[in-house]
Amino acid sequence: MKLSRRSVLKITGFGSAVIIFLPRIAFAAPNSLRAIRTGVQPGNKTRLVIETSQRPSYSLSYPANQLVITLSNTSGNVNLVPTLAAGTLVNSISQNQVGDKLQIIANLSKPVGSIPKDQIMVLSPNGDNDYRLVLDFIAGQDTVVKATTTGTATKTAPSKKYVIVIDAGHGGKDPGCIGKNGTKEKNVVLSVAKKLKNKLDAVGFQTYLTRSNDTYLKLAQRASIGEKKHADLFLSLHANANPSRSVKGFSIYTLSEKASDEEAQKLADAENAADKIDVSGFEQFDKDIRIALSALQQHAVAEMSVEYASGCAKHFKSMNITQQPGPDVRHAPFAVLRSTVPGALLELGHLSNATEEKLLTSASHQNKLVDAIVKSVKSYNFDV
Ligand SMILES: [Zn+2]
Repeated sequence: MKLSRRSVLKITGFGSAVIIFLPRIAFAAPNSLRAIRTGVQPGNKTRLVIETSQRPSYSLSYPANQLVITLSNTSGNVNLVPTLAAGTLVNSISQNQVGDKLQIIANLSKPVGSIPKDQIMVLSPNGDNDYRLVLDFIAGQDTVVKATTTGTATKTAPSKKYVIVIDAGHGGKDPGCIGKNGTKEKNVVLSVAKKLKNKLDAVGFQTYLTRSNDTYLKLAQRASIGEKKHADLFLSLHANANPSRSVKGFSIYTLSEKASDEEAQKLADAENAADKIDVSGFEQFDKDIRIALSALQQHAVAEMSVEYASGCAKHFKSMNITQQPGPDVRHAPFAVLRSTVPGALLELGHLSNATEEKLLTSASHQNKLVDAIVKSVKSYNFDV
């Protein structure tokens, strides 16, 4: 049954009058609203928490000076009074039941742009809490704010360019692995990184390279470029080596403080060792950029990284690029991936294997790798 009648439940905070228009027909949805609260987070962020009885399915829109969260199959809660903290961007919150959808309308003191995916979390119940949709935002995150004249939220098409930071591993005094025929990892990955930048730029992404020539960068410095550029995705490109020359294939990794397997841990140790190379005159890493990630943020970034990495493995395989036997996505504590930016470390193949060493230096194979990565980036869901 489709309910044409809209019920409006308006609840305002700070002791304002509570105006409630009750729906004539009570709607029974599988999910229900349990609580709404706001708070202030470090960095002057507003946090909006919406608690529901079931895992929420939601979409966001941004009419003028509002943030509208639409929850599917959810019924509102007439008696609910949001707990609104002082000092946030949220002045008041109202509910609007449209059929089986519940709109939660946050009226803001200043407009916000589209909230980046890594600032949105869905948390499972714990202790006294039910499922929680957690949104962190600041004023004017991007310039795209579309006004809607009706009370119905419309989906705002993102017009911002997604930012990708491409990190060519190693460089300068650090050659990375070296193939039997002398191919250096640092040169292969720089060549692929430049090709990848050109293709991603051509299809509408804003990309930056951590290095565009044969220079040495500390791992944290590479990660900090992702932060400074407000990247939506960080890709660190590498080529692998294995004591057994018969081992070949690509492998994809995301950050985890606990390695998924012993081999992944060894690889992280090897890649992290790049920082142990002493280079005199190296400029001090900008400490301001070090961000203490909350557990929630870490969780969100990890989830998005795995989502990207799984898609990436799929595209590599669909283009018949040889995969190293093992899971599609492995995890290990890679220093270069420690940031608030979702990302992955791609080992493009094995320089220790004669066939792959040859492939990795060929323009046609490099283009194939680039095409696979471009597909993975294009199919990654940057929007929530
Ligand atoms: Zn490497």
